[in-house]
Amino acid sequence: MDNLTNIGTIKDILSRHGFTFSKSLGQNFLINPSVCPKMAQNANIDDNTGVIEIGPGIGVLTNELLKVSKKVVAIELDKRLMPVLDETLGEYDNLKIINADVLKIDLKNLIKEEFEGMNVVVCANLPYYITSPVIMRLLEEKLSIASITVMVQKEAALRLCADLGTRDSSAVTVAVNYYSNPIFLFNVSSGSFMPAPKVDSAVIRLDVFDRKQKPKDEKMFFKVVKGAFIQRRKTLSNSLSSYFKMDKSAVNDILDKASLDKTVRAESLSIEDFIRISDLMCSIDL
Ligand code: SAM
Repeated sequence: MDNLTNIGTIKDILSRHGFTFSKSLGQNFLINPSVCPKMAQNANIDDNTGVIEIGPGIGVLTNELLKVSKKVVAIELDKRLMPVLDETLGEYDNLKIINADVLKIDLKNLIKEEFEGMNVVVCANLPYYITSPVIMRLLEEKLSIASITVMVQKEAALRLCADLGTRDSSAVTVAVNYYSNPIFLFNVSSGSFMPAPKVDSAVIRLDVFDRKQKPKDEKMFFKVVKGAFIQRRKTLSNSLSSYFKMDKSAVNDILDKASLDKTVRAESLSIEDFIRISDLMCSIDL
């Protein structure tokens, strides 16, 4: 069904199904007609692409994704939306809707069973209360996906797409850059949603790649990143010595071997710097 951004149409469908918005599920539905086609255009989709959508709501983005892709699998947690989606998207035979929690469903298996021979991407207007856990899950599980195009709060978009080595970068920026190339695509004002959230949003795309240069131990790498940013106003030396409960002199020794100044701060480090520190940490008893 087209017209899914029309406020009258939305109100009519929702009232017939007795649906009320759930704040705790992050239900802000898109009513700006230009956003979903633009998202679908920017999501690297062609006619051999399978799309995983998270949180279809009443199906406004799903409708656009179905027009340009081979198949869409949409994962929606709210059971009350199942009959709504039946009504709005029932005409498509290249759609599967799964009533499940995206944080719990077996995505590896889903990709294997639903998208054989297809290029797979994720495209979603994410429920904001789980932005980071969803993105990190998609990346950390090393799923066979080529890209993740998502609408997130503008502040989160800026943090995720910050340049490494600048003050806007954070532990999540490093993690995202470890697995992908993040690209800031476009802004979306809060008035584009019903109900309107308090903050603006933005659409970003993470182009996933297979990293060539890897640390000896990924767990240690991410512990170093976490420890480095946990007290971001402190020097790296202070943050790491308190996080790993190590003598400052031992940390300074590692920074020296990694060719880093002991006054350096986490925000100015590159992925390669973190890998060197992590590899040196692996060689000592913690
Ligand atoms: N795609 C629709 C749109 O753009 O209008 C709705 C987006 S709304 C921001 C987020 C959607 O995610 C809601 O439909 C909500 O019910 C769903 N959702 C919330 N938590 C979820 C979870 N853990 N797993 C799957 N879907 C979830």
